[in-house]
Amino acid sequence: MDFYSLNHKAPSASFKEAVIKGLAPDKGLYFPTSIEKLPASFFDSISKLSHNEIAFEVIKQFVTPEVPEVELKKIIEETLCFDFPVVNINDKISSLELFHGPTMAFKDVGARFMSRCLGYFNQNQQKGTTVLVATSGDTGGAVANGFLGVEGIKVVILYPSGKVSQVQEKQLTTLGQNITALEVDGVFDDCQDMVKQAFLDKSITDHIQVTSANSINVARWLPQMFYFFFAYQQLHKQYNKLVFSVPSGNFGNICAGFMAQQLGLPIHHFIAANNKNQVVTEYLKSQDYTPKPTVQTLSNAMDVGNPSNFVRIQEIFKNEFQALKSHLSSYSFTDEETLEGMETLYNSYNYTADPHGAIGFLAAEAYQQSHPETHCVFLETAHPTKFLDVVEQVIPEKIDLPPQIQKVMNQKKKSISISTYEELKQILLSNHK
Ligand SMILES: *Cc1c(COP(=O)(O)O)cnc(C)c1O
Repeated sequence: MDFYSLNHKAPSASFKEAVIKGLAPDKGLYFPTSIEKLPASFFDSISKLSHNEIAFEVIKQFVTPEVPEVELKKIIEETLCFDFPVVNINDKISSLELFHGPTMAFKDVGARFMSRCLGYFNQNQQKGTTVLVATSGDTGGAVANGFLGVEGIKVVILYPSGKVSQVQEKQLTTLGQNITALEVDGVFDDCQDMVKQAFLDKSITDHIQVTSANSINVARWLPQMFYFFFAYQQLHKQYNKLVFSVPSGNFGNICAGFMAQQLGLPIHHFIAANNKNQVVTEYLKSQDYTPKPTVQTLSNAMDVGNPSNFVRIQEIFKNEFQALKSHLSSYSFTDEETLEGMETLYNSYNYTADPHGAIGFLAAEAYQQSHPETHCVFLETAHPTKFLDVVEQVIPEKIDLPPQIQKVMNQKKKSISISTYEELKQILLSNHK
């Protein structure tokens, strides 16, 4: 499948080129040139299919033939090595738990899928590939873990010193092998600026293929379609008006949901659940899209003032505001409301949610005030222990650390402190000698 740039000033790219480049040369996001609906027979037999079989049918058209079918099956099998349970909260709302992977964030699926595609494309390549990421928390851990041990690929992660949670820091810094963690004396934006500078620096790119691993990359974005099919498989016999409430930051996950709908998955409606970074909530009210500086919240993986994947959603709806609005609602909540949502889930439904999932729940409740006939599934995007300091404010009981987290907490942090771009450059160049 070919992909075109949403800025329309760069040539189309194959899946392979789109994965390796990340962003098109004109800085546009890549988008598939066609989207074929899945046949009715697929939906008729979905109850009998395994997760691996569903995933294969869903993503095949986008990644073959550049990734051959046999290879794709292998990649999917390695990607989906954990569960995606749907937990009933009450008879109108369920939680789709996406946190059972190695770093307990939903980003595990995209990171694992992308790493294996890149590893496949990198076979017999002369120039080494470095995946360069700036992280404010969750992305770094999922990427580090997803790429661990993938042949021919080095990963360099920049994170702001003292600004990620203890669990997140351990996940970033204890892996070793092909993963290097750089602890930057600065804030997240400083990390991101250094990464951007490196992508444009010929004295680096002449020697090393550098690529990004955030949700603008098609290989990280598209596998997120799987979640919606897995939930549908579990719920479609019980409920016929399924609505997904997606805690959204860069809008990659919800945009994958819209792609699933384009493939024919009968999804009744989507809800973008936001914290006070509410550019999309405002847009749906006023038709005025005005990016704002990021504000810090308790649900920090959604602290995004200008969501990069929103242009893809607009492309799906051909930039028609009314068409988009008829498929998407959006609500935003304060930190105080987030804590109340976590409290309600715990006290009334005996469910411990993380701050992001709690916002998904609140948005589902808000939507159902006017749409009581629907069944809402909110995506629980991270395990509560990943945001322990917040969760402990509302949950009276002690939460046990799951084995994945316990394992890294006992390991020794290995990071390199840097404060300038020159230091980053030296590390990148010496890394590939
Ligand atoms: C990344 C992340 C999100 C936001 O996902 P987007 O695809 O960027 O909208 C929500 N919750 C958690 C826990 C995350 O890590």
